[in-house]
Amino acid sequence: MKRYLFTPGPVPTSRGVSLAEAGELIAHRGADFSELFLRIEKKLSLLLRSSGRTVIFPSSGTGALESLAANFTGPGVRVLSVSCGIFGDRFREIADLHGASITGVDVPPGEGVTPQIVAEAIVANSGTDVLLLTHNETSTGVLNPIEEIVSALPKWKKPLVLVDGVSSVGAMPCYPEEWGVDGLATASQKGLLTPPGLGLVWLSERAWERAAGKKCGSYYFDLVRQKKDLYKDAPENPYTPPVSLYYALDAALDTVTADGWFATRRRAADTFVAGAEALGFKPLVADKKFRSAGVSALSLPNGDISDVTKSLRAMGLEPAGGQGALRGKIMRIAHYHDVSWPEISLMLGALYAALGSARRGSGNFIEAAFDVWEGLAK
Ligand code: PMP
Repeated sequence: MKRYLFTPGPVPTSRGVSLAEAGELIAHRGADFSELFLRIEKKLSLLLRSSGRTVIFPSSGTGALESLAANFTGPGVRVLSVSCGIFGDRFREIADLHGASITGVDVPPGEGVTPQIVAEAIVANSGTDVLLLTHNETSTGVLNPIEEIVSALPKWKKPLVLVDGVSSVGAMPCYPEEWGVDGLATASQKGLLTPPGLGLVWLSERAWERAAGKKCGSYYFDLVRQKKDLYKDAPENPYTPPVSLYYALDAALDTVTADGWFATRRRAADTFVAGAEALGFKPLVADKKFRSAGVSALSLPNGDISDVTKSLRAMGLEPAGGQGALRGKIMRIAHYHDVSWPEISLMLGALYAALGSARRGSGNFIEAAFDVWEGLAK
């Protein structure tokens, strides 16, 4: 049976990306590779609306987070970590492992981080050197308003702002330079529509200066070492890069930098959630303004959702379950790839079938969703 991936990473890759990835290998020291690298850098600059280049590691997203932690935290560094889920916790844990002094602020699962929460925490911890934030919390489907959060920080001593953008970049606007972010980590296998294996790190001018004056707690993830090769006229990677994934990323970036791509992700997510609600599911993120355009978390008002998740898998559809304390309580459906009306109706129809005898809500769920789909096109 064909299986349809609806997991928030990895996501299905397009035919163009698969073909690009299957291209013949080239040497990673030479003009052809540098040309490919430069092409990717230009597209990343367009996507992030940034002037600087982006470091690309052969790693997953956790490697990119580790790189930020290794270069900017460590013993004696005061870190404020604001978390609204598993991945915020992970970023904190990595900084902790690197020896930083951590103050944690926790927001309950399904709720978003407000500018006020962060500004108050910074005022209460006025010696904070580094602030850790998550843009899109994949474990709950919360999208945090990074731009507003950063602009509400007290101006007298702005900490270095490091953001986990692993599940936002590519699917939602993420403009670190314009927003005043100092370090952004992301990965290939979600919004960037590329197979797993690349971790990306973007830094502000201020962060590059800070990194240059500090000993990094990692050899492989040392950003200053990367910078030397990254900013050559013919850029290269200090260590052997996964060349095939670079080809794949180059092709995928054409999709995510196309006009209207973010709007179509938003439209797909909102449409799907409207249909699921009409079927009786409850979005974990109650406040619409915090809902992710990449991944939607659903619960059932009266109980365990794991039977629905199991039924979907038996039907060939692959959602993600809940993680940690949310295991069995939520199901997560992703909209990173080119999900459109056919995929949405496929998933809603499967949910309708999966509810079986416990089916609730009206029989008009497809019409309810279609109205939203049509309305959002205007
Ligand atoms: N941060 C976020 C927000 C994520 O969604 C993930 C992956 N689900 C990670 C970090 C870790 O990334 P990886 O699994 O690629 O190491």
